[in-house]
Amino acid sequence: MVRYEMIIDVSRCIGCYNCFLACRDEYAGNDYLPVSIAQPQSGQAWIAIQEHERGSFPKVKMSHVPVPCLHCSEASCITAATGGAVYRREDGIVLIDPKKAVGQREIVSSCPYRVIFWNEEKNVPQKCTFCAHLLDAGWNEPRCVEACPTRALIFGIADNPNSEVSKLRTAKSIEELHPEYGLKPGVNYLSLPKRFLAGEIVLADATQLPAEGVNISLRRGDQVLTTATDSYGDFEFDGLEANAEYVLSVAHPGYRHQESRLLTRNDLNVGSIVLEPLENAANTRKRGSPL
Ligand code: SF4
Ligand code: SF4
Repeated sequence: MVRYEMIIDVSRCIGCYNCFLACRDEYAGNDYLPVSIAQPQSGQAWIAIQEHERGSFPKVKMSHVPVPCLHCSEASCITAATGGAVYRREDGIVLIDPKKAVGQREIVSSCPYRVIFWNEEKNVPQKCTFCAHLLDAGWNEPRCVEACPTRALIFGIADNPNSEVSKLRTAKSIEELHPEYGLKPGVNYLSLPKRFLAGEIVLADATQLPAEGVNISLRRGDQVLTTATDSYGDFEFDGLEANAEYVLSVAHPGYRHQESRLLTRNDLNVGSIVLEPLENAANTRKRGSPL
């Protein structure tokens, strides 16, 4: 028996909602018993696109995190249901039995990811099925995966070493969404949003010109990240740990070296860092100013 897995690459998601619309097209008004009954015309998102606005003006980023049911191997929805109303198939797909689950409203709140919805009219909880009815009919992937124009959703057989999901798992560092929930999801992520730090370099003796190609490094213990300013004099480090202390260093030939300690409580915009030419620094020292 195969075991299905999905990997979601957040860096590729552009928030186009094609996946959501394909899901709506498949399920709104359509029963697929025994796998699912029809989604109502509004009010449910079996794949939700969480929008994260990050940073502060003018260094702002938008990240989109698609969240379907994560088909957990230790699913809290299964434990909360009675009479086998939620079950996990051998292929890893977690399904809500539309008949057995009638009236079991508590199943909705049992999922900490909040991906189960209550169908008021039919008196039943509902959620993503990984399009089990299509997979059973020979499809290779769910409708959302097929509809994604950027291949942000990658679906396949976990146990096949040649599948794209297996290769990604080996090559890249896959992350769990909310590992603190401890549910062992069958949907995992690449490039979940972390902290970023951005700023701009200005050369004190050439303020009208962008300071391109200035080397910047960011240190935390043994880890050293490096970058250089772009043609606007801007720089950025992304993927930083939250609530961690980093040392930012700016070194440019002919200018005073600058260093500062920063704590990534939030995304950081360090603003303009003005580099003084070494000549001016020497003159400043002669005038007796503190360094
Ligand atoms: S994400 Fe929620 S609904 Fe889906 S299997 Fe896990 S606990 Fe159940
Ligand atoms: S279709 Fe793909 S790119 Fe568009 S919102 Fe869904 S996951 Fe993101």
